[in-house]
Amino acid sequence: MSTKLHVYNSLTKQVEPFESLVKGKATIYHCGPTVYKRQHLGNMRRFLFADFLRRGLEFAGYEVREITNITDVGHLTQDELDAGEDKLAAEARKQKVTPQDIAKREIKQFQVDLQTLNIQPSHKYPRATHHIKEMQDLIAELIAKQQAYQTKTGIYFAVTSFPQYGKLSGNTLEDLQAGKRIAIRNDKKHPADFALWVFDDQALQKWDSPWGTGYPGWHIECSAMSMAYLPTPIDIHTGGVDNKFPHHENEIAQSEAATGRPFVRYWLHNELLKVAGQKLAKRAGEQLTLDTLSERGFSPLAFRLLVFGAHYRQRLDFSWEALAAAQENLNNLERLARRLGEILPSTDEAVARADADSQAVDDFATALANDLNTPQALAVVNSYLSSTNQKLESAEMSKSEAAVTWATLLTFDRVLGLFGPLLTKIGADRIPPEIKQLAEQREQARSENNFAEADRLRVEIEQAGFTVEDTNTGPRLIKKAGNS
Ligand code: AMP
Ligand code: ZN
Repeated sequence: MSTKLHVYNSLTKQVEPFESLVKGKATIYHCGPTVYKRQHLGNMRRFLFADFLRRGLEFAGYEVREITNITDVGHLTQDELDAGEDKLAAEARKQKVTPQDIAKREIKQFQVDLQTLNIQPSHKYPRATHHIKEMQDLIAELIAKQQAYQTKTGIYFAVTSFPQYGKLSGNTLEDLQAGKRIAIRNDKKHPADFALWVFDDQALQKWDSPWGTGYPGWHIECSAMSMAYLPTPIDIHTGGVDNKFPHHENEIAQSEAATGRPFVRYWLHNELLKVAGQKLAKRAGEQLTLDTLSERGFSPLAFRLLVFGAHYRQRLDFSWEALAAAQENLNNLERLARRLGEILPSTDEAVARADADSQAVDDFATALANDLNTPQALAVVNSYLSSTNQKLESAEMSKSEAAVTWATLLTFDRVLGLFGPLLTKIGADRIPPEIKQLAEQREQARSENNFAEADRLRVEIEQAGFTVEDTNTGPRLIKKAGNS
């Protein structure tokens, strides 16, 4: 039984042992949201995969540095065709606001959605519009190496100057030359040449450049931002399978052409979430978002569990029935946590001292090490839960057994990410309203940077017999041990 981490690399099309560039450390770049509309459930599947991957690496002992970009300019409505309009600009015109207004609103919403799903925050969320200089430097490098050229409409990458073009997606230049899907801007040398910089002095978001006023292409953004924050070759770069071509193929071409070095060691792509066989897309009319789930009485965490239960390389068909089953599973977890908490609260020091069940944890680790096999990991969790339930039903569980069980569940939860928020909820149910109010006032004081008042309120909460912990999903109130 091996717990050496293996992942499926889309570049080599096989499962490979994961070796990071620097031993014990791993770097990850995730293609982030295009912030012109709320992220739908398909997008959130993608960020849950990113979260499971990061947590899985941390579980395997890696120190992870993770970057997720924000695309707030340059993603065109037809990215395969290098045509259409900038998505933020199109939305801004429709809503009669500025692209910056839309970006601000959607970035905030994205952060809320991540927190709702208990997705650990990345170390940075660089925005394309804040990295124009880095993109222009990269473009200048490509022009100097004669791998990019200028026309009357922009600066283009010359795909024929990069013989390995197609190595990720399998789209060879011959296929692309013959294919009809690539629109031929008649000033391009090859139909697959793609824009690094688009000339447009009427654009809603535009910058001066040595070549002319305009805005960057979508692909150059991710090359520039990933290399600005992570050393190359980057260990892991992820995206949905729809990012593979042309986005990631083009990222590889321009990055490797500019630096002369491999860009990324492992490319990981999640399959799509579909509804009734259709890809969820922001363009489509009705949007399924986390709000849709809450409106129908579901917990967004049931969606986290649903996604955990499917392998990231498998298409997931969203259905209300499947979500209801995940919700039922989540409710069972919550019931179990409540019962265990009656025997011994998870905050009891005995839990911190207890060793987790090593067999169960090994099985869980083995599943994750096998190309992040979360369904298999969930099967391990579920079997552990059912034997715990049996023990709870058949006899009184001792405090020491409860401590081991908690320690095991909290170990699973380092990747599963469900017990933390459930415990916050359970804890909140037991907190008197006046203490909750003090915690809310403290949050308010903190948001106003009034730290003296926040500290005073913390002391008041402590004196009333409660502690307040600041977690990823917000503050959590806990009754101090011995306080009835
Ligand atoms: P976007 O905001 O369109 O740039 O997409 C953000 C991320 O979500 C990208 O990495 C896409 O590959 C991914 N994505 C988009 N639609 C889906 C879907 N239906 N299922 C899974 N991932 C998706
Ligand atoms: Zn990207």
